[in-house]
Amino acid sequence: MTEMRTEVLQEILDEIARDMAHQTERGAVASYIPELAKADRSRFGIAVAPIEGDVLVAGDADERFSIQSISKVFTLTLAMERAGRELWSRVGREPSGNRFNSIVQLEQERGVPRNPFINAGAIVVADILLEGRAPDAAIGDVLALCRRLAQDETVGIDDAVAESETRTGERNRALAYFMSAEGNLREPVDKTLDVYFHQCAVAMSCRQLARAGSYLCAAGRKRGFADKVVTLDRARRINALMMTCGLYDASGEFAFQIGIPAKSGVGGGVLGIVPGVASIAAWSPGLDTHGSSLLGQAAFRELARRTGWSVFGPVSEDG
Ligand code: GLN
Repeated sequence: MTEMRTEVLQEILDEIARDMAHQTERGAVASYIPELAKADRSRFGIAVAPIEGDVLVAGDADERFSIQSISKVFTLTLAMERAGRELWSRVGREPSGNRFNSIVQLEQERGVPRNPFINAGAIVVADILLEGRAPDAAIGDVLALCRRLAQDETVGIDDAVAESETRTGERNRALAYFMSAEGNLREPVDKTLDVYFHQCAVAMSCRQLARAGSYLCAAGRKRGFADKVVTLDRARRINALMMTCGLYDASGEFAFQIGIPAKSGVGGGVLGIVPGVASIAAWSPGLDTHGSSLLGQAAFRELARRTGWSVFGPVSEDG
């Protein structure tokens, strides 16, 4: 994988943004969270934070959106620190092959979710962050990490989204109660979900998100930071989980087509990590049937094709 000249990369991003503006197939907004249904499907933004140099952007890259499940990357980072290896006795690291909010596997597997990126797994991670303190303290930690990583104190939580999801989150409640019955949640369900719903409601722009992800493309190290954000080993593992589980039951297809560790959210964002090269964020609110941004994925495909940024080797037309 190669680094690219800034001007060439900027041109590619501009062309992708222009191309996406003309797409008529834009997917459907997430209507099961009423507040997200208000998003404007005509929006598209992209940002690239190269390992060296400034963030490059195109389209609506400074517009904030709900990062939703992309927050699971940041909460996992915190939980690895908090729980160490014990984390892996409460959540697995295999792709689920099911929808992100599926209930069916949980019963068969005695309340231990397949991985930290499906909703059930992220709820266990939220429970780990909560343990022994109030929800506000755990939410505060998540927000502080997002701000620190984005190097932007204006990153915040969209309370209307958190409230909307709290009101309509029956499926997540079902997952949480089931895990609690199996002894895999240690805190009261409503408090754990309070953390989970608020982490999902963190709002960021593509520019902020690309910058925030950059610790994962530089082996846990972040430019300008005295200390590593995570160890090299943890960064590698988070990337492995993004590659295998980051787009839920479409992770295999994303790896097959694009080959970049990535994490999507139902707000339409996609964060992708090209190890040693760049952190990338794309956003467009319309989703495909698996719950990931249709144009966000299309943008990654085009970027990978034109830059050669795929961990498995260049992406070509044929195959
Ligand atoms: N907050 C969303 C939910 O729990 C997150 C899902 C997602 O982004 N895939 O349903």
